[in-house]
Amino acid sequence: MTTVSIISPVYNEGNGISNFVEEVVRVFSRLHYELTIILVDDGSTDNSWSNVRSIVPEKFKLIGIKLAKNFGKEAAIAAGLSLADSDVVITIDCDLQHPPELMSTMLGLWEKGAEIVLAVKEERQQESTLNRLAAKGFYKVFHWVTENDIGGTSDFILLDRKVADALKSLPEKLFFYRGVVQWLGFKQQSVSFIPNNRENGKSGWSFWKKLRLAIDSLTGFSAKPLIFIWFLTFLFLVFSLLVGGDAIISKIMGRSIGGFSTLILVILITGAAILSCFCILSAYIRQIFYEVKSRPRFLVSQHIELEEGSEPINRTARK
Ligand code: UDP
Ligand code: MG
Repeated sequence: MTTVSIISPVYNEGNGISNFVEEVVRVFSRLHYELTIILVDDGSTDNSWSNVRSIVPEKFKLIGIKLAKNFGKEAAIAAGLSLADSDVVITIDCDLQHPPELMSTMLGLWEKGAEIVLAVKEERQQESTLNRLAAKGFYKVFHWVTENDIGGTSDFILLDRKVADALKSLPEKLFFYRGVVQWLGFKQQSVSFIPNNRENGKSGWSFWKKLRLAIDSLTGFSAKPLIFIWFLTFLFLVFSLLVGGDAIISKIMGRSIGGFSTLILVILITGAAILSCFCILSAYIRQIFYEVKSRPRFLVSQHIELEEGSEPINRTARK
């Protein structure tokens, strides 16, 4: 029978985890696949891990790992992928914002030959206008910089075995999951969905986490921002020639040169231009730093594996 692994990163989702597993099992009860659910606790500080250990794997195999700390969603997905050896792998959020029933459509497309199935959000979940605009702006910049259009895509993705292997073989430490999957190529198809609202807990993404991922994904994908420094330098040369030339001509003609405000303006523009270049360079140095140091993407502190029909471990073992 075809084997399917469902990988879900879990970060402080104690209240919703059993609900999520129930929903997945309900969807698969109507399908004919051998199911493994891989839950990766990304260093949660609530009762997520003890709830993972309480799950009774009635009609599926359960693999649970707890990472040594909060490594971030991308690392948690990478951890899950390192354990999945099934014919098909599906990554999905466990907060039920990604509707599990869509998995049957995704598997249908895989049966027909798709090697990657991307679930694309038809509209963004309820969120502030600022978040919405920031996401739109980021997708536009990402498209322009990397020539990859990831607008609307999510981390709800089906991967064929060979795609999962290709993904695992990539050596980079900082990886932007959706972007990398699209970059891989293969036969891709998409299905659209309207994300549900979060029922339990709150989003684990702080503003800084999002900003870091945005910068890492841009610099990890393309060297185009470095070319921007050359462009800025060229603009600055033209600006210097105009302002400097005007100052010299004024001096020769005996006209008084623009005063204090011109000076302030020149200093501000120069400072902003130099700092922008430093920002771009520092983002690339950050990439090089992590890749050269070559530390593992994640560290596992606990691992459980339960075959179909076994007793949950939580009854006896340490929490
Ligand atoms: N998540 C994670 N590590 C984190 C933040 C989030 O593993 O540091 C998980 C979280 O448990 C959920 C998924 O990633 O399964 C999506 O997170 P969230 O719902 O917070 O993101 P949003 O839906 O707001 O994009
Ligand atoms: Mg969510």
